[in-house]
Amino acid sequence: MTVEKRPFVTKAQLDEIAKTHPTPFYLYDERGIRENAKKLKQAFSWNMGYKEYFAVKATPNPYILQILKEYGCGTDCSSATELMMSDAVGFSGHDIMFSSNDTPPEEFALADRLGAIINLDDITHIESLEQAIGHIPETISCRFNPGGVFTLSNGIMDNPGDAKYGMTEAQMVEAFTILAAKGAKEFGIHAFLASNTVTNEYYPELARVLFSLAVRLHEKTGVHIKFINLSGGIGIPYRPDQEPNDILVIGEGVRRVYEEILVPAGMGDVALCTELGRFMLGPYGVLVTKAIHEKHTYKEYIGVDACAVNLMRPAMYGAYHHITVMGKEDAPCDHKYDVTGSLCENNDKFAVDRMLPKIDMGDLLVIHDAGAHGFAMGYNYNGKLKSAELLLREDGSVQKIRRAETAKDYFATLDGCGMMQKYLK
Ligand SMILES: *Cc1c(COP(=O)(O)O)cnc(C)c1O
Repeated sequence: MTVEKRPFVTKAQLDEIAKTHPTPFYLYDERGIRENAKKLKQAFSWNMGYKEYFAVKATPNPYILQILKEYGCGTDCSSATELMMSDAVGFSGHDIMFSSNDTPPEEFALADRLGAIINLDDITHIESLEQAIGHIPETISCRFNPGGVFTLSNGIMDNPGDAKYGMTEAQMVEAFTILAAKGAKEFGIHAFLASNTVTNEYYPELARVLFSLAVRLHEKTGVHIKFINLSGGIGIPYRPDQEPNDILVIGEGVRRVYEEILVPAGMGDVALCTELGRFMLGPYGVLVTKAIHEKHTYKEYIGVDACAVNLMRPAMYGAYHHITVMGKEDAPCDHKYDVTGSLCENNDKFAVDRMLPKIDMGDLLVIHDAGAHGFAMGYNYNGKLKSAELLLREDGSVQKIRRAETAKDYFATLDGCGMMQKYLK
């Protein structure tokens, strides 16, 4: 099935926005974010205590976090700055999940000061945590890795056995036993087995793995398992021929497994949580860029004013991002282009051999599904600067939720350098 990918803005709207906000910029769709958050909540409303902890790393912007907070979301953090941003937005205590790995002691300490739930990636982290904060919290979570290969019936697979995260089952048993002896009272289990799964099966299958594990851990250690964290991994259809996930079907699938495994084991009080990032924001953010050069050599190139520092996924993973040439939505895609940025790196291409309508200089291009792991992965290679982030409000107005980086920002860490003073003023 081909779903037509249409941007959430019209050409007229975008032309108007581009008059006051120079390209490139990120644009987020407040309405889409809200509707999706509402639907997720509905999908898991059958579970008492369900909570989505938005993976801050996907879209670390306080205005976005504030919107999600209205729907009862917490935050999932894995660094000190993500914890700080959550704190600043008003998340505190168990509204923050700290799912990090290879964790520096000062980050454990900050998570503890904020009262966050700490999710331990490894059994040796029990000792690290104790050293960092001087005690073991009453509520604690451990991350599980079943090893091997995780396969779904539609062919989606991932390779937990090759992933650096989580503990073996034997280590989970040992960790829970040690933690209980050190005073922990409420336990959580976490696992992230496959990324960007565009199938309604992933969560129910992951739930089956985690729920069975929870029953065994409860039997072996006697601890009270308070929550099970299905983490991230629900994907989005980057390609127009992919069928989107149906979160209501996913929620219902998880409910069936919950009633099959946890309820008969007397564990019907387990709360579920999720740490979705991509699913929450991916489709509701686009990168808007302008065609500024065309080049005809051995291939046809369109040069745009954004580059891989603004959106790294195509360069990094060869990821597909759909492109709409604004105003030419219904024109035939009869031109084959490489759409490139300006980095001195040949992988700086938003699209390779992509069939698109004829592009004229000055055309605005919308690069779809950039709302998660888009701006967030930005970097400064080649001295390139990060773009602004704009929020398209429900009433059609536009709010700048982050200004574009300037040369002064780029040089700011050289503030002790006399030679740079001219550019630091
Ligand atoms: C990245 C990450 C997520 C979010 O993943 P998505 O693919 O964006 O859903 C959730 N939890 C943890 C621990 C992560 O590292």
